[in-house]
Amino acid sequence: MLATEIEDYPGFPDGVKAPELSGLFIKQAERFGTEMIYEEVTSVDFSKKPFLIKTASNSYQAESVIISTGSQPLWLGLPNEKRLIGKGVSACAVCDGPFFKDKKVVVVGGGDSALKEAIYLSKIASDVAVVHRRGELRAQEALQEEAKKRSNIKFILDSVIEDILGKDKVAGVKIKNLKDNKITDFEAEGVFMAVGHKPATEFLKAQPAGGQGQVDLDVHGYVVLKGQTSTSVPGIFAAGDVADPRYRQISTAVASGAKAALDAEEYLDNL
Ligand code: NAP
Repeated sequence: MLATEIEDYPGFPDGVKAPELSGLFIKQAERFGTEMIYEEVTSVDFSKKPFLIKTASNSYQAESVIISTGSQPLWLGLPNEKRLIGKGVSACAVCDGPFFKDKKVVVVGGGDSALKEAIYLSKIASDVAVVHRRGELRAQEALQEEAKKRSNIKFILDSVIEDILGKDKVAGVKIKNLKDNKITDFEAEGVFMAVGHKPATEFLKAQPAGGQGQVDLDVHGYVVLKGQTSTSVPGIFAAGDVADPRYRQISTAVASGAKAALDAEEYLDNL
């Protein structure tokens, strides 16, 4: 929902606006009888059948549930960050990278995502600067080696972004060196945040830890899958970014949604 123009979803050779694409998804699902209910799930009880899903105003029962609540990119909370999302500030290089051909970009973070994004962007942008708050990177060695091999990726370590510059679009960033506290303006047209994602699984945490009906989550809060879409609770499936810290694409989320639907259908058939 944070993307404006989606360029990489199959079937839309000229790109498609994010709200338009989700609107089309909804319309198509409704044609097959899907009922849409717009309520926020506050808690679930998966310890007995039927499963119970509670929202602020209602509760719903189900024989099977597919969790597909997604994840949200984390932002830095800088004064001008939100205003410039979609105007040079992004949290997805694969989605927005092509807009920065032969331009200078900054990637923030030192984990696997940051280096994957930097490597991807180095094939499109003229220069990529990875700004990381510590002196060493958290990313796996192989990614570090690959990034360091690329001549147009440079690392600005022990440094944080103080703010993003630019009126209607990104013009640069203010970088503070944490060792000498020196602040410099750094010219760039794109800023890619890669400081982590937060899967939307808070509502699952209300269940008794380790108890029956507990959907296992990993240390980052992602739903742990057994095989393709099954969770630790038979009958509960998960699809999309809520169980995928790696690919995070609309196409991959749609694919896992299709798998989860087939798996749920088979589960119901076998009841
Ligand atoms: P991550 O590992 O949590 O890394 C986040 C990075 O952002 C860290 O370097 C962190 O700095 C930095 N950071 C966090 N908050 C910050 C802030 N407020 N200001 C400045 N910097 C900040 O997240 P991730 O890279 O998205 O990876 C998440 C999980 O997915 C990991 O388990 C990762 O291995 C996996 N993943 C795997 C692949 C793959 O290809 N195998 C690709 C992407 C992700 P510090 O280092 O100082 O904490």
